[in-house]
Amino acid sequence: MALVRPLRLLLLGAPGSGKGTLTSRLLKQFPTISSLSSGDILRSQLSSGTTLSHEISSYIKEGKLLPDKLMVRLIGGELDKRNWLNKQSTWLLDGFPRTVGQARSLDQVLKPNEASINMVVELDVDQKVIIDRIEARWVHVNSGRVYNLDYNPPKVPFKDDITGEPLTKRDDDTAEVVSKRLDLYNKELQPLKQFYQELNVLHTVSGNTSDIVYPQLAQLVIDNYSHINN
Ligand code: ATP
Ligand code: MG
Repeated sequence: MALVRPLRLLLLGAPGSGKGTLTSRLLKQFPTISSLSSGDILRSQLSSGTTLSHEISSYIKEGKLLPDKLMVRLIGGELDKRNWLNKQSTWLLDGFPRTVGQARSLDQVLKPNEASINMVVELDVDQKVIIDRIEARWVHVNSGRVYNLDYNPPKVPFKDDITGEPLTKRDDDTAEVVSKRLDLYNKELQPLKQFYQELNVLHTVSGNTSDIVYPQLAQLVIDNYSHINN
């Protein structure tokens, strides 16, 4: 389905809330959307062996957030490189901004280009469900594709469906680190939501499986950004 107005969407959700899975489904249904996941961008830097990659890795391993300034520089650079800083662009962000500081800085970059975020969807999923899901989660690091051994298993056990490469567990998906990441998410969430609520772009969808959440998310996109008959 073609989108009529440019969509600049932020998916806001706890670790394991399904951002990656929902993004894949949106991209399939709306091929004009492009996506960027801050976690995937950071993980793709890790193998480079640079000082920056060591710095990034030390934060991720402990479940801490990278400093806002560094994130804004990294993601701002990536948006620019992809030529997304213009009012015609249609894209989706996952994982950035995740603090009010990042949200403010990003808005300062986007606003002069008339490219501000025009839809934020908060994914509201039970914390207990999230913890179980992360335990069963395996990833294909190079692509960011996510599998769940219970709900969304790969066609061949422990192999990526597209490339056939091995799946791995993320270092930061251990119980201890996950609980830190959840605490941080909960701490940042209210002020971040308030920021976007004041801009009148905040929506919330609730549900404990992506099959329940996805239709609500797709409907929001259709209602706000596309031709019904298209
Ligand atoms: P999920 O597990 O569902 O992918 P997540 O949001 O916990 O969700 P990522 O987005 O992949 O995981 O992020 C992994 C780590 O990368 C974070 O714990 C943090 O250390 C770092 N990170 C990612 N995005 C940001 C950001 N916007 N600001 C600061 N640190 C970030
Ligand atoms: Mg992610």
